[in-house]
Amino acid sequence: MPGARRDLTVGVVGAGQLALMMGEARAAAGVRLAVLAASPDDPAVAVADEVLYGTGFEEPALRALAARCDVVTFDHELVDLGVLERLVAEGVAVRPGPSALLFAVDKAHQRRALAAAGLPVPRFAVVRAGDDPDRALGAFSGPVVAKRARGGYDGRGVAFPEGRDEARATLLAWASEGEVLVEERLDLLGEAALVLVRALDGTLAPYPLVDTRQADGMCVETRYPSRVGPDRLAEATALAARVAEVVQPIGVLAIELFVTASGLVVNEVALRPHNTAHWTIEGTTADQFAQHLRAVAGLPLATVGVTAASAVMVNLVGGASPPAPAPAVEGVVVHDYAKAWRPGRKLGHVTALGVDPDETRVRAWERARLLGAPSEEVPWP
Ligand code: ADP
Repeated sequence: MPGARRDLTVGVVGAGQLALMMGEARAAAGVRLAVLAASPDDPAVAVADEVLYGTGFEEPALRALAARCDVVTFDHELVDLGVLERLVAEGVAVRPGPSALLFAVDKAHQRRALAAAGLPVPRFAVVRAGDDPDRALGAFSGPVVAKRARGGYDGRGVAFPEGRDEARATLLAWASEGEVLVEERLDLLGEAALVLVRALDGTLAPYPLVDTRQADGMCVETRYPSRVGPDRLAEATALAARVAEVVQPIGVLAIELFVTASGLVVNEVALRPHNTAHWTIEGTTADQFAQHLRAVAGLPLATVGVTAASAVMVNLVGGASPPAPAPAVEGVVVHDYAKAWRPGRKLGHVTALGVDPDETRVRAWERARLLGAPSEEVPWP
């Protein structure tokens, strides 16, 4: 029928909890969703309009997804960038594109490119197979952090060696499997994240800065509003715009920041909906999942407003035994990713909205504990 509107189909590589929440936001964005799932048990399979099976490392699977949708986007970065480059050359819309995705796939590339652009990053060196680790370690007088350049996430692939011998052993072992980043271990006053969404035309829609807390390398909790103070807020906003200029993403760009005595330092960037912006589902008028879908589909972004004076998100991580059903807590929303319980696995999150940040936080943790969150509630630094 001439003039009939056809909803665009966004194809997502992966069908984990991020794709699940994209699925829940697809009506708000006015798009259809196809997912490339590894298994019928993947969280997003239940909500997608169309499901294909395969992984981001299989060219036929990526081609099948591309053929079924108008634009390809991502639930995770486990993907063959070479195949994506070929698809782009053939005219497939891949958003974010392979050169932006490389920032999320390769921490060494990320550090080099952000440092070259003059952005504040920890002092670092890159070690490859055959390199003498002592040469790299000689550049650091204090403790270091070692990070696999590729394949690590949620603290996997990050080591905090005690002393030079342990650092040398880690670098030697890891470098035999790929590049390793070694960097100064900073004294952190805290950690924060700024998430923004970049539209196809370059328009930026930032969310407010949040404070974040990590345990075992995994995000445990986020808190809006951030308590860093007006100077740091302005610094974060300016930094985020500069990072977006370097990375040139389409969709969500999450910038994880270290708060140090001498200012903000960029830890890492992610190019997909991010754990530190899950609070935007209840806490804003335009959540990160709907905004991501709008951005990658080439649609105009919605205006972002906050819906409450404070919002606290706590991750539900599998404890020693499966969580039992628990009573509701007023003003706290539970997101269950419908994943099989496993100790240490992210199974869902809760978000509490309120007026007073401390009271909001108490309610969020009350609900999380009832659901078996094993993480210790520790005071903010
Ligand atoms: P991942 O990609 O697995 O999330 P990150 O590089 O973000 O790993 O590191 C995980 C956590 O380790 C950070 O959130 C921070 O708490 C700590 N960390 C990482 N790098 C440093 C550093 N250079 N100095 C101090 N702490 C660090």
